[in-house]
Amino acid sequence: MIKIGIVGYGNLGRGVECAVSKSNDMELVGVFSRRNPETVKTHTNVPVYEMKKVYDMKDQIDVLVLCGGSANDLPKQTAELAEHFNVIDSFDTHAKIPEHFEDVNKASVNGKHISIISVGWDPGLFSLNRLYGQAILPNGNDYTFWGKGVSQGHSDAIRRIEGVKDARQYTIPVEVSLESVRNGENPDLTTRQKHTRECFVVAEEGADLERIENEIKTMPNYFSDYDTTVHFISEEELMRDHKGIPHGGIVFRTGTTGFDNENKHVMEYKLTLDSNPEFTSSVLVAFARAAYRLASEGQYGCKTIFDIAPAYLHPATGEELRKNLL
Ligand code: NDP
Repeated sequence: MIKIGIVGYGNLGRGVECAVSKSNDMELVGVFSRRNPETVKTHTNVPVYEMKKVYDMKDQIDVLVLCGGSANDLPKQTAELAEHFNVIDSFDTHAKIPEHFEDVNKASVNGKHISIISVGWDPGLFSLNRLYGQAILPNGNDYTFWGKGVSQGHSDAIRRIEGVKDARQYTIPVEVSLESVRNGENPDLTTRQKHTRECFVVAEEGADLERIENEIKTMPNYFSDYDTTVHFISEEELMRDHKGIPHGGIVFRTGTTGFDNENKHVMEYKLTLDSNPEFTSSVLVAFARAAYRLASEGQYGCKTIFDIAPAYLHPATGEELRKNLL
C-alpha cells in the first residue's frame, strides 16, 4: 500500500481524500492543516493533524500530496516539504513554473526525494498534449480553449466590486472559432474571438446595477478584452444553479505533412469536467503513484508531467498493461 498524506484541506484536499479512498493500492494516513485541526472535518473521518506534526510522521508517509493555493501556499510549502518527503503539487502560475522548479529541485536533491510539480490538467494533461502535438506535427499551430467553466479568479474579481455580494463567472469558448480550428483553417484568433465571459451576480440591496455591470465589462485584464454578459440573480438562484465548479477545455494541434504539405491533420484533446477540483485531485493521485515508484527505484529530484513515463501512473503491472491496453 502506498501511504498518502494530504497537506491543506480545501477543494483539492477533499478531492484527494475521495480519489485515494477509491484507489486499491493506496491508504490515507492523515490530513495536515494550518488551521486548528478540531475545526477541520474530513469526509472519511481520516485524522487531521496540525501542520508541524507532519515531520514526526515521516516514516509513515510515502508521498505528500500538497493541496494549497498556487498564489501564496505552494511556493513556500512545496520547497519546504520537498527536502523531507516525496511531494506532488498542482502549482498553476504558468509564468513562475521555472522558478518554482528550481526551488523545489534544490530541496529534493538535498533530501534525496522525488517531487513532481504542476500536475493537474492545465498545467498538466493539457501541457502534455501540447507537447505531443508539437513533437508529432512540427509544421502546425497550437490552440487552447478553456471552458465552459468557472474561473475562480474572475469570480473573485467581480466580488471585489462595491455593491456585489457574490458572483460566479463562466469562461466559454466561441463556437465558430472552435469549428474553424477543427476544419484545419488555421485562423489567427484575437482574445475576443476565442472566449466569451458570462457573469452571474448577486448584488447588495439597493446597489446601482448599471454601475456594477459597467465596472465588470470595462475591468482591465479580466473583462475589457472579451464580450461579457452580466446577469443579476438572487442568492437562492446562485446557490441552486451555480454552486458546482465545472471546467474543461480543448487542446488542438493542427498541422500538415507530405512533401508539399498536402495532407492536413487535426489532433484534439477535450476535457469536460463536472468538478474541476475533483478531476485535478484524481490526476494528482495517479501521479503520486508515479512519485512513489520513482522513489522506490532510488530516483530523486524534481520532475514535471513531461518526465513521467505513462506506465508509472497505472496500478497494473507492465505485463498486464501490454496485454490489455496495447
Ligand atoms: P482552496 O482555496 O479550496 O484551498 C487552498 C487552501 O486554503 C487549503 O489547502 C487550505 O489549507 C486552505 N483552506 C481551505 N478551506 C479553508 C477555509 N474554509 N478556511 C481557511 N482556510 C481554508 O483551493 P483549491 O483546493 O480549490 O485549489 C488549490 C490550488 O489548486 C489552486 O490555487 C490552483 O492553483 C490549483 N489548481 C490547479 C489546477 C491544474 O490543473 N494544475 C486545476 C485546479 C486547481 P489549510 O488546510 O492548511 O488551511
